[in-house]
Amino acid sequence: MKNRLFRRFILLFAAAVLFLPLSGLAAQTQLQAKNVIILIGDGMGPSQFGAAWIYSNRVLKKDLRMSELMNKGRTSYLVNDTADSIVTESAAAAGQIATGQRMTARALSMAADGKTPVKTIMEMVKEKKLATGLVTTSGITDATPAAFAAHVAHRSDEESVADQELKFGVDVLMGGRKQFFLPENAGGKRKDGRNLLEEAQKAGYTVAGTAEELKAAPAGKILGLFNMGNMSYEIDRAATAEPSLAEMTGKALKILFKSKSGFFVMIEGGRIDHAAHRNDAPATIRDTLAFDEAVGVAMDFVKKNPATLLIVTADHETAGMSLIGHSKESKEYVGMDLKAIEKAKVSFELMAGMWGKKPTPEKIKEIVKQSMDIDLTDDEARTVADDTIKKLDPYNYNYDYLHSLGFVLRPYLRVGWGSQTHTASPLFLFGSGPGSQKIHGLMHNTEIFTVMKAALRLK
Ligand SMILES: [Zn+2]
Repeated sequence: MKNRLFRRFILLFAAAVLFLPLSGLAAQTQLQAKNVIILIGDGMGPSQFGAAWIYSNRVLKKDLRMSELMNKGRTSYLVNDTADSIVTESAAAAGQIATGQRMTARALSMAADGKTPVKTIMEMVKEKKLATGLVTTSGITDATPAAFAAHVAHRSDEESVADQELKFGVDVLMGGRKQFFLPENAGGKRKDGRNLLEEAQKAGYTVAGTAEELKAAPAGKILGLFNMGNMSYEIDRAATAEPSLAEMTGKALKILFKSKSGFFVMIEGGRIDHAAHRNDAPATIRDTLAFDEAVGVAMDFVKKNPATLLIVTADHETAGMSLIGHSKESKEYVGMDLKAIEKAKVSFELMAGMWGKKPTPEKIKEIVKQSMDIDLTDDEARTVADDTIKKLDPYNYNYDYLHSLGFVLRPYLRVGWGSQTHTASPLFLFGSGPGSQKIHGLMHNTEIFTVMKAALRLK
C-alpha cells in the first residue's frame, strides 16, 4: 500500500518536473508582444489629465478611456529627469523613452558628446522587419517623433529630421510641419532646394494632405502632412480639413496591422503641450480629450489583437497647471468653471493673432468677449495689455500677453498656471498587454524603453 502511494508520488513529481519548463515557456510566449503602441501626451501632467477627467465625466457624461486602461491594465508614477537637468524638454524626454539612456537637452537620440547616435527602439524593431509608424498633431519633425527615427545634435535641425525619417523608411508618418519637406520656392523652409514630397512619392509613399485624402489612401507607406506648421488645436480643428488624432490613429493601425511580423508605432498628442505653454486651459483640455479618443482607438485595436503591448504616458508636465478652487462670488471651494471652459470657441493662439502686436485694453476685452463670452473688467484688460505678469516674472519665457491673460482669467476658469515652461511634476505611465506586467510603482522614463524591448524580445 505504502509502496503504491510512493510510486504515485514519484509519478506526479516526475510529471511536475517535466511540465515545469513547458509552463515556463508558455508564460514566456504569453509575455512576448508582436506589436507595440506607445501613446505620448506631450505636456500631459496629472492636472492636465485631471482636468480632462473632470470635463469628460461632468460635461460629456462619460469616463476617459485612459481611466479604463488604468483600471484594467497596469499603472505607475513616472519621473523623467535627464543627464543634465531636473526639468526636461521633449527631445531629451523622448530620447530617453526611445533609447533607455539619459539624454541632454535639445539633442535627439545622441550621446552627450553630441556626435554619437544612440540606437533607438524603432531602429531595433526595423532590423527585425517590424513595420514602423510615427503620428503626431505637432510637427512630424518635432522632437517627440523625431527622437525615434532621427539623430541630430539640435532638435531645431528639422530639415535633417524630415530627410532622416524618410531615409529610415518609417511606414506611417502623419502630422504637421509640411514646410520642412518643401523647398523655399514651393513655400517651404528647405534650404537645399529638395522637394521631399516628390521624393517620398517616388520611394513608394502615398502623400495625403487632408482628412479626406487620408481616408482614401490605400494600404502601404503613407506620408500624411496636414499643415505647413503644427496641426490645429482640437478647439480650432472644425474650421480646417485636418483629421483628428483618433482618425490618424485608426488609419495608422489599419495600415500597420497588415505587417505579418508586427509593428511599432508612437502616437503623440503634441499640442496639449503647446496649449499649456500658452496657459490656455480650454485648448489644453480639448487636446487632452482628443488624445484620450486616440487612446480609445488603440484600446479597441488591442481587444482584437491581444499580442500588443499598449503604453500610454507623457514626456513632461507643461506650465504647472493647477486646478484651483475659488471663484469671484464665493469663498467656498468650487473648482473649474466647466461652463466657461465649454463656452471657449478658439485657442489663445488664434485670439493673440486676432488682437495683433500691441493690443489696447479695449481690443483685448473685445476678443475675450467674442472668443470666450467673458467680460473682463477694465483693470483686468489693462493687466493683459501691460503684460504685467511678464514684467513680474521675466525669466519665465513667455508668449506675450498670454501669461497675463491666463492670470486674470483665474477666477473665471479656476485654472492657474505656475509658469509658461515645463515642470518636473511626476507623471503617469499605464499600459496593458504582454510585457506590461513590468509597469508598477515608481519608474523612470528610461525604463519604458526596457519594458518595450523586453516585451518584443529584442537583444
Ligand atoms: Zn513644451
